[in-house]
Amino acid sequence: SLEQGPEGPETPIQVVLRVRPMSAAELRRGEQSALHCSGTRILQVSPPGGGPDVAFRFGAVLDGARTQEDVFRACGVKRLGELALRGFSCTVFTFGQTGSGKTYTLTGPPPQGEGVPVPPSLAGIMQRTFAWLLDRVQHLGTPVTLRASYVEIYNEQVRDLLSLGSPRPLPVRWSKARGFYVEQLRVVEFSSLEALMELLQMGLNRRRSSSHTLNQASSRSHALLTLYISQPAPQQVSPVDLGEPPVGGKLCFVDLAGSEKVAVTGSRGQLMLEANSINRSLLALGHCISLLLDPQRKQNHIPFRDSKLTKLLADSLGGRGFTLMVACVSPSAQCLPETLSTLRYASRAQ
Ligand code: ADP
Ligand code: MG
Repeated sequence: SLEQGPEGPETPIQVVLRVRPMSAAELRRGEQSALHCSGTRILQVSPPGGGPDVAFRFGAVLDGARTQEDVFRACGVKRLGELALRGFSCTVFTFGQTGSGKTYTLTGPPPQGEGVPVPPSLAGIMQRTFAWLLDRVQHLGTPVTLRASYVEIYNEQVRDLLSLGSPRPLPVRWSKARGFYVEQLRVVEFSSLEALMELLQMGLNRRRSSSHTLNQASSRSHALLTLYISQPAPQQVSPVDLGEPPVGGKLCFVDLAGSEKVAVTGSRGQLMLEANSINRSLLALGHCISLLLDPQRKQNHIPFRDSKLTKLLADSLGGRGFTLMVACVSPSAQCLPETLSTLRYASRAQ
């Protein structure tokens, strides 16, 4: 059987699937791969019990042999960057269970030690896009103002990863002119690749150091780094007159929380609340996406207000925006139940 969503030349959400290589631990335990790429767009799933194969189709399917550079190219992130330069809101997000390669795909592996640099060949989609964008802007010939913000949504609270003091939860507000926005967010202007890399590093370090109890907090939080791109508009009707928000383009990178089921963590009390709010954001995201894709319900109200995540992604998902989802999975048969739920979520989104 072929599970796939409606496909057109301009589907609002492009979905790419990345299967990471077997990890050393999975190999040591003798786990088998349950996934096989068939061509560039079809993933075959072979259930270990010997049931019938199931096939899923995506915009691209990338197996464990594909490099970070391959992934960057296959995802067409430069195209999103061009759209952001033209004033669109574009979002790249990674989706999948904890350990499936979301953070690796966006930002590469963590450094192996203090002062040990990560080889450039392992840089993720974000660093590659940053380098491309700064180069592109330099050659544009027109002045462009670049700014960045970096937040974490943890427990349905927004924390500023770039705040100068200790981060407090910030409210998300809505205004006609701006749409949804985070109040008192630190938005930092930058003009060099080095400066942007420092902002990324500051946020990544804060995320890593906020880990607590059993798992890293990063598996339960969503991290959103947003680039704001504004160019002086030559003699055009003020966007305000058209009822449009007077903002330039945006390029947002979202490392989503792990998509594993709450029941699996066996969490209680505070942890349960965390797990529930992650589910709430991911469910809200899935719900908004399915409503946006349903042609019958296009005129209907999209419930972006149901979670902080969907509020902050509203303009990219619903307005003048483009979204790329990179669904990440482990090849191991042991992960198959979670992998199937990731594959279903991702195929429903296209
Ligand atoms: P997630 O963010 O989804 O929880 P990670 O990105 O942290 O998962 O990946 C889990 C582990 O697998 C990390 O040690 C990471 O370095 C490694 N890993 C993930 N994807 C790849 C890949 N494509 N190639 C090599 N190692 C990878
Ligand atoms: Mg991660």
